[in-house]
Amino acid sequence: MQDATNYESWGRFPKVTHNRCFFPRNPDETSHFLQSNNASFLPRGAGRSYGDVCLNAGAYLISSQHQNKFKSFDNESGILRCESGVTISDIIQSFLPLGWFPPIVPGTKFVTIGGAIANDIHGKNHHRYGNFSRCVEKLALLRSDGEITVCDRNQNSDVFYATIGGLGLTGFILWAEIKLRKLVSPRIVSESIVMHNIDDFWQISQDANENYEYTVAWIDTTRRTKNMGRGIFYRGNHEEVKKDALLKTSLHHRSVSVPFNMPEILLNFRSIQLFNEFFLLKESHHESRRTINYNSFFFPLDSVHHWNRMYGKRGLIQWQCVIPHSNQHKALNQILNTICNSKVGSFLTVLKEFGEIKSEGLLSFPMQGTTLALDFPNTGRTVQQLCTQLHELVLRFGGRIYPAKDALMSAEHFQQFYPNFSKFKEFIDPKFSSSFYRRITQL
Ligand SMILES: Cc1cc2nc3c(=O)[nH]c(=O)nc-3n(C[C@H](O)[C@H](O)[C@H](O)COP(=O)(O)OP(=O)(O)OC[C@H]3O[C@@H](n4cnc5c(N)ncnc54)[C@H](O)[C@@H]3O)c2cc1C
Repeated sequence: MQDATNYESWGRFPKVTHNRCFFPRNPDETSHFLQSNNASFLPRGAGRSYGDVCLNAGAYLISSQHQNKFKSFDNESGILRCESGVTISDIIQSFLPLGWFPPIVPGTKFVTIGGAIANDIHGKNHHRYGNFSRCVEKLALLRSDGEITVCDRNQNSDVFYATIGGLGLTGFILWAEIKLRKLVSPRIVSESIVMHNIDDFWQISQDANENYEYTVAWIDTTRRTKNMGRGIFYRGNHEEVKKDALLKTSLHHRSVSVPFNMPEILLNFRSIQLFNEFFLLKESHHESRRTINYNSFFFPLDSVHHWNRMYGKRGLIQWQCVIPHSNQHKALNQILNTICNSKVGSFLTVLKEFGEIKSEGLLSFPMQGTTLALDFPNTGRTVQQLCTQLHELVLRFGGRIYPAKDALMSAEHFQQFYPNFSKFKEFIDPKFSSSFYRRITQL
């Protein structure tokens, strides 16, 4: 047991204080803590969610940190059973040298399997493989009354579909079975293409999605009219080489750390414009086709520990929406214009087309269409007003906002974005809650 007043989310907003965080080492201890305390609990993974989905202000967190063991692995099928505190990084470290890799990875390898399931995360290959839950074969869920439910697509499937993307509210995931994929090389053959505007994105993305497993674009949101949406499109496939390449490549990733909060004075529209200018210049001077280590391709931000401190003490507001395919062109034009006009700049803006593989979780975020993710320095009211404006636009175009990256969505908006919420409610564990949950139910 440990004092947990300083637990925060990756965006470091909102700032909250917890009562306590428990660190059970096994299912019995987890069950004991849940049953012997009469307060609200929220499971805690690695805290890499940006908003308040991993916060439980004034109440308890129950961490998976010490439940991080591999339980079994089938070398024929690639099915790994592991505890929920195992991270994507742990899996890569242990299984890549044997030729196995998680089929879906997010932009950081430091997330836990519990967190990946609870937010039903997605990667750069959504158009091929869908959400993370597609590689989840089975899971075990502990409820606060001590009952353990093992569920999959056939057995207790209603609990399974509520728990994937269930935002930690249906109970504590003890372990899960993840189907890994075979790889012959740890490297990615990556290409980058300069885009002059959003029209280039639509064109390049459509072609790339057919021939490349990984596609994503970085765009500059500080430019209007004919330069709106300019940026770099990245696409890549796994390198196809002999297996011994796996053993030769180092799994270690060089990293540096941001030791303190950066002064907020550096976070204005002009400096963000300059950063975007510099980034575009730097990236367009790279060789356009490179064979690079998986770390540089999937997890470039992981090489800078605590990079969130670059946003100063007040933190950052991540914002991610998805717009359905049928409305994506019109909606993206309006959204990008609104952002640019607001003069609230974003350092890292990512655009990607999601494919047609349907989300299975009752509250899973992805849908076929285009997703846009931005990170705004938290400048207080200006950025909050902008987000409210953007939520209205997203609603009008039939899209939704990603809870893993949200700190501002209203209850009205959430319940319109996620009409399955009323069905989901019956699966919520009575002792589980979160700051996010309380916000999106305060109508
Ligand atoms: C740099 C960066 C890049 C990212 N890129 C992507 C991306 O490309 N795609 C994407 O989808 N997301 C992305 N994310 C978001 C991240 O993948 C998710 O927020 C993920 O859920 C974080 O996992 P975590 O282990 O840190 O969990 P936490 O943030 O601690 O918790 C997340 C949720 O999972 C629940 N939870 C955790 N453990 C359990 C458990 N054992 N049982 C039940 N519930 C549990 C929590 O209650 C909470 O609701 C990114 C985040 C960062 C910081």
